[in-house]
Amino acid sequence: MLSHHGSAPSLLHVAAAALVDADGRVLVQQRPPGTQMAGLWEFPGGKLDAAETPEAALIRELDEELGIAVAQACLAPAAFASEPLGDRHLLLLLYVCRKWGGIPQARHATALRWVYPAQLHALDMPPADRPLIGLLEAFL
Ligand code: C5P
Repeated sequence: MLSHHGSAPSLLHVAAAALVDADGRVLVQQRPPGTQMAGLWEFPGGKLDAAETPEAALIRELDEELGIAVAQACLAPAAFASEPLGDRHLLLLLYVCRKWGGIPQARHATALRWVYPAQLHALDMPPADRPLIGLLEAFL
C-alpha cells in the first residue's frame, strides 16, 4: 500500500525579491483579483518551473511581472520561510536586490508600492511573507 507516512512534505518552491531602492525602500506589489490571496501585498516573485534554479526563476518572474532585468550576481539570499498551503508546504526564498535594469511596472499586479521596511508590518501580506519582514530588517 502506498503511504505518504514518513515521506518528505511536498514543497512548493517560490522565489521572491526585496528590491531595495537608493532611499532604502522596498517594492511590494498587490495581488490582482481572481488569484490566490487577491488584494494582499507581496514581495514580487513566483513558482519555480521544473528543473529551474531559484535564481533563474526569480530573474524570469521579475522580467515577466515588473519588466526589469536582474543579473544573478545581484541576488543576495536573505531569508526563507515555510507555510502550510493546503496539503503541501510553500517554501518562500527571499533574495535582496539593489541593482536592476529598467523601471518596475505593474504588469501583473494591481499596484506597486515602495515602502520603508518598518512599514511592511502594517501591510496585509501573505502568511509566508510575514515572517520575512523581521528577517529582512535584520539583513538590511
Ligand atoms: O505568484 P504565483 O501564483 O506564482 O505564486 C505561487 C504561490 O506562492 C501562490 O500561492 C502565492 O500566493 C504564493 N506567494 C507568496 N508570497 C509571494 C509570492 C507568491 O505567498 N511573495
